[in-house]
Formats: sequence, structure tokens, C-alpha cells
Amino acid sequence: MPGEKANPKAPANVTAGKKPAKAAGVQKKAASAAAPKTQPLEMVQPAAAAAKPKPKIATVSMAGCFGCHMSLLDIDERILKLVELVEFNKSPIDDIKVFTSRCAIGLLEGGCCTDENVHNLQEFRKHCDILVSVGDCATMGGVPAMRNMITLKECLDEAYQNGPTVYNPKNLMPNDPEIPLILDRVYPCHEVVKIDYLLPGCPPSADTLYAAITALLFGEPLKLPYELIKYD
Ligand code: SF4
Repeated sequence: MPGEKANPKAPANVTAGKKPAKAAGVQKKAASAAAPKTQPLEMVQPAAAAAKPKPKIATVSMAGCFGCHMSLLDIDERILKLVELVEFNKSPIDDIKVFTSRCAIGLLEGGCCTDENVHNLQEFRKHCDILVSVGDCATMGGVPAMRNMITLKECLDEAYQNGPTVYNPKNLMPNDPEIPLILDRVYPCHEVVKIDYLLPGCPPSADTLYAAITALLFGEPLKLPYELIKYD
């Protein structure tokens, strides 16, 4: 918790100081390699979809801004095609808050800045065959990781005591037990659990997301044209 309850160290499974795996090109596998190899998903034709259970997708926003989720919704009418192919499970999109079954793909927005984020991420690793870090916050920490340049104490002091717009005459720090514990720094997802794919961009475009999801569903190699992954 911020203040005297602030967690000075990350949880034991969080590896401090590890460099993010190079996100050179989409579909590059992340650093660690403990989990079993994931089988390509079986292609589901719309006609057969009613008879066959659809593969499930889960999504989560951790230390992110929801921009990556907005980009997913930006696939416009292709969302209808996506709904033919998959079923959404735990996700802010359908407001399902807990996993109700195993999922084929987990899409992760944001890195980890609290113990709650770490718990969420571990749950996703447990329940999803393939995990994809979506966007720069999940793959590198992104904007929230700018606080990694200062100590947690400096960060909290600036936010709650010394900031130019702060009015806090009793110098109180938030310490309600309901508030998640803040970590010593912001961790990209692959420093917490094994990640299968990294999708860079802030956010990755709707076309990039759609191409990545459908390639994973059909077990095809992901070929993204240069226009989708250049950012100048
Ligand atoms: S990568 Fe960009 S759009 Fe996605 S959560 Fe981070 S800041 Fe928001």
C-alpha cells in the first residue's frame, strides 16, 4: 500500500532488473521457456461453429490505459466475424470477472505495478494456453514505467505530499487495506510469467490485433506488413 504499507519489493516470482525480450518483429517468443509448447488451435469454420465449442479468448487491463482494448474494438465490423470464431471469457469487454473455463488466448494490456496486477497475470498464465503481451505497456512497461527512474518513496511523496497541486495538510498516505499494494517498480509481463508473443505498439492498430488473433486461431504464421509495425 502506498505509505508505510507500500511493498518495498516485488513478489518473489518477479525478477527485478531483467531486460525485456527484444520485441523485434511480432510473434517473437519472450525470454523464459518453462511452459509446455502450445499446439496451434484448430480452425473453426462458421458453419461448424454452432456444433463445436468455440475457442475462448480472455483479456485484461493492468497498468494500462485501456487504449489497447479500444484498439481491439476498433476492428469495426470484423468484430462480428471474431464473435463467430471465438467466445470471450474473462474480459472487460463482456464484464466477466472470473475465468469460467480454460481459454485458448489471453490478451494482456499493461504491465504490473501492484500485487493485484501480479495476481491477475498469474491467473491468466494458469488459465490460458497462449498469452500475448499487447502494446508497449505490457511488453516494456510503457508510460507507467517512467516511475522506475525514481524510488517508490520519491514517487509517493510527489503524488501525495510534494506535488504542486497536492493539498494534504496531515501528510496522509492512502493505506486502506482494500487498495492493492504498489510494487517497487513497474514490471513488463514477461518478467512475471512466461509470455508467448509480444505485440508492440501504443496501441497496436486494430488491423495488427485482428491479424494476430486470427493467425493464432488458425495456427498460421503471423505475417504483418511493414505498414502495421512502423511507428514514424
Ligand atoms: S500501450 Fe499505449 S494504448 Fe496500450 S495501454 Fe499502454 S499507453 Fe495505453
